Amino acid sequence: MQCIFCKIIKGELLCDKVYEDDHVLAFLDIAPVNLGHILLVVKKHVESIEEVDDLLLGYVMQIVKKLGMAMKKSLKVSGYNIIINNGATAGQVVDHFHCHIIPRYGDDGLKAWPQKQYKGEEAKKMVNAFKSAL
Ligand code: AMP
Ligand code: ZN
Repeated sequence: MQCIFCKIIKGELLCDKVYEDDHVLAFLDIAPVNLGHILLVVKKHVESIEEVDDLLLGYVMQIVKKLGMAMKKSLKVSGYNIIINNGATAGQVVDHFHCHIIPRYGDDGLKAWPQKQYKGEEAKKMVNAFKSAL
């Protein structure tokens, strides 16, 4: 079965389009966390951020910024979350790379994620593991 975002890009499925150019398409999430929740997708089908060309990824961030600024102006919000669920374990349901831009309202009741603490040498071990993988 074909990817749902590819169908939207091809115009085979309707969407509430917010922005489009040769490389990206932005539309309203069908099940918004808050009203005005935008999805920004790259037009080329790739699953994860690792597969997005570096130049395109930089461009995606420019468009995220543009959409965020428009969101602030139009919805009169002072903040928004930029979220990429990268991989199934991170909550990615649609396997076509996309960014969520979610407007935030002071009284929206959304809570931040619970946070953990490092014990003993755990932080140092993490840093060393990252450095050797970079
Ligand atoms: P993710 O969990 O990051 O893969 O998010 C996928 C998002 O796509 C979810 O927030 C869905 O509500 C949204 N979604 C799925 N189908 C559609 C659709 N046809 N139009 C707009 N948004 C959709
Ligand atoms: Zn796709």
